[in-house]
Amino acid sequence: MNLKERALPEELFVLQILEQRMSLSSPLKHRLYTLQVGYDGEIIFDKWLLAMEWDSIVIHDLRIKQNFSEVQIDTLVITNKKIFIFEIKNFIGEYYWESQTLFKKPNKQVKNPLHQLERSKLLIRQLVNEWQCDYSVEASLIFVHPQFTLFNASLEAPIILRSQIEERLHAFKRLSSGITLENKIFAEKLVQMHLSTNSFSQLPNYQYHQLKKGVPCAHCQSLLTQLRGRKCFCNHCNLQENIYASIHRLTKEFSLLFPEEQITVKKIYDFSGEIVSKQVIRTALKKRYHVCGSGWHSFYLPNVE
Ligand SMILES: [Zn+2]
Repeated sequence: MNLKERALPEELFVLQILEQRMSLSSPLKHRLYTLQVGYDGEIIFDKWLLAMEWDSIVIHDLRIKQNFSEVQIDTLVITNKKIFIFEIKNFIGEYYWESQTLFKKPNKQVKNPLHQLERSKLLIRQLVNEWQCDYSVEASLIFVHPQFTLFNASLEAPIILRSQIEERLHAFKRLSSGITLENKIFAEKLVQMHLSTNSFSQLPNYQYHQLKKGVPCAHCQSLLTQLRGRKCFCNHCNLQENIYASIHRLTKEFSLLFPEEQITVKKIYDFSGEIVSKQVIRTALKKRYHVCGSGWHSFYLPNVE
């Protein structure tokens, strides 16, 4: 069972939106690429895990802090007697270890992912002891990309390469039996500790007036869209979408980029590049949001689900 689903990281989402609406600096483009590749790797691993039908509790993307130490765990699997931590890397190319340091060929030093893995393992062990549970903890670093090659790794290092993933996961699965109520309680306590804000995020500076206005396509995120009847049509990939769904997505983008701003018809109209009528925007907002106030002063709050 999945106790916590994986969501698109907020920093990645913001950068994806900004890429369409402003010119990103080279470091930000690189950051966007790195986050996207990392996220894609996690999704690949999630599919493997799901296909195994492992009787376990899976927690995705867990960020917790204990004794001033914060860790982010890509995937954590709780079984009857054992907890598995998986750190997932989607590196491409040839890498090698030298003096406990990881390099990308020819000589670019890379942050050692085993250090993060070790910190995660330590923190989970501390919680197991603190909560007086009886779990052993196993942590693995997983490289999911088929074009990743690793030289000179120690045989003892907890590293799993693409060609080994299925076999190793099945071996882990064979070691575990069905989950218990105690496992569920432990998992829920962990999820309650999850930090919703990410201190590792580095959101860029941007201002409303810098951003291109328009309604993004649901498929390719292009702003080359136009209204055709009650459909939003993309001139880049030809996708057609119900306009209310498009406005809903546009409003979510606006709220994410400008969380301090109230949502009003006028603001969403402006953000849409004035391609959708205020009446249509008002109807779209009323479908998903709660109206506060009336007339010119009305604004919209998300419905509590
Ligand atoms: Zn498109």
